[in-house]
Amino acid sequence: MSCDFLAAALPSVQKLSPYVPGKPVEELARELGLNPEDIVKLASNENPLGPSTHVCTAIAEALPELTRYPDGSGFALKAKLAERYNVDPAQITLGNGSNDILDLVARAWLAPGRNAVFSAHAFAVYPIATLACGAECREVPAKNYAHDLEAMAAAIDENTRVVFIANPNNPTGTWFDQNALNSFLRQVPAEVLVILDEAYIEYAADSDLPDGMDYLSRYPNLLVSRTFSKAYGLAALRVGYAISSKTVAGVLNRVRQPFNVNSLALVAAQAALDDEDYLERSRLLNTQGMQQLEEGFKQLGLSWLPSRGNFIAVNFQRDASAINQALLEQGVIVRPVAGYAMPTFLRVSIGTQAENQRFLDVLTQVLNRA
Ligand SMILES: *Cc1c(COP(=O)(O)O)cnc(C)c1O
Repeated sequence: MSCDFLAAALPSVQKLSPYVPGKPVEELARELGLNPEDIVKLASNENPLGPSTHVCTAIAEALPELTRYPDGSGFALKAKLAERYNVDPAQITLGNGSNDILDLVARAWLAPGRNAVFSAHAFAVYPIATLACGAECREVPAKNYAHDLEAMAAAIDENTRVVFIANPNNPTGTWFDQNALNSFLRQVPAEVLVILDEAYIEYAADSDLPDGMDYLSRYPNLLVSRTFSKAYGLAALRVGYAISSKTVAGVLNRVRQPFNVNSLALVAAQAALDDEDYLERSRLLNTQGMQQLEEGFKQLGLSWLPSRGNFIAVNFQRDASAINQALLEQGVIVRPVAGYAMPTFLRVSIGTQAENQRFLDVLTQVLNRA
């Protein structure tokens, strides 16, 4: 008799649904016999600009060092981030993507008998990280698809160790303002860690979104998580960071893999921080593309959730899977979000002007046919 290793896994792991990523271009090309060049992927909130040339040069220069282990302390990148945010390097944790940070937090503070609080329609990695550690998910109903911070604060009990909030949230694009964050942080008990996931915050500059960094000195139980995957255009390299109290960073440092961020990612992230022009162009393209998609949706009579990210959730008011399938058949990849309890929506990442137009043209055809 062979062992049933699924039955032998942690009970919470047995209940866990694996993360479903956006469909890769190459995969759809194989399935449809299409040229990858003819496929538009607006499914993973990737930066449509392609990597900064500055970053590519830095990576090329680092290649001869590939036989060596990376600097496991991430000294140079931390120094740069510390200067940028006016914090001590000891407050910084680097991650293999910011998903790594979320996982480290779960491993350090979650376990069977403990729970994590997060919102309905929140990022899929929160339940995955929580269940992987045997802890319980306390999913709080959303308010118009957005985090209901009052209800989330009320959902915290004596077994809660972590609260995950995202501003803006993915896949909804919804956000909360300074007053809401202030009032929430005041209600959270000092022994509960608040993970403020700001993966898209660079797109929300000069908006009504609070800057998590401004709250760190007042709230030692706050951790702000950010990434180089989105506005900095480095999703493939996997590099993110957290800023928190030194104590929290020290705990994360105990559980992280010694070389969790690779050397190319480290040099690329440093170069990316210097490339202000790239960030500015990313923001501009995003603002224009968001307007373009909203205008297109309006003309098609579709509703959507206003978004502060680099993506937008559009509502078809009926199951969207057939529309998604029809888009795929025309070489357009967007993201179904039925797994986020949003079966009538599709999430569309903001692309280049031409990519957005191609998506809108194909969508128009698909809707006219139906
Ligand atoms: C994309 C995203 C991240 C970033 O993931 P990385 O691991 O840094 O690539 C984190 N949180 C949310 C909500 C996201 O959408």
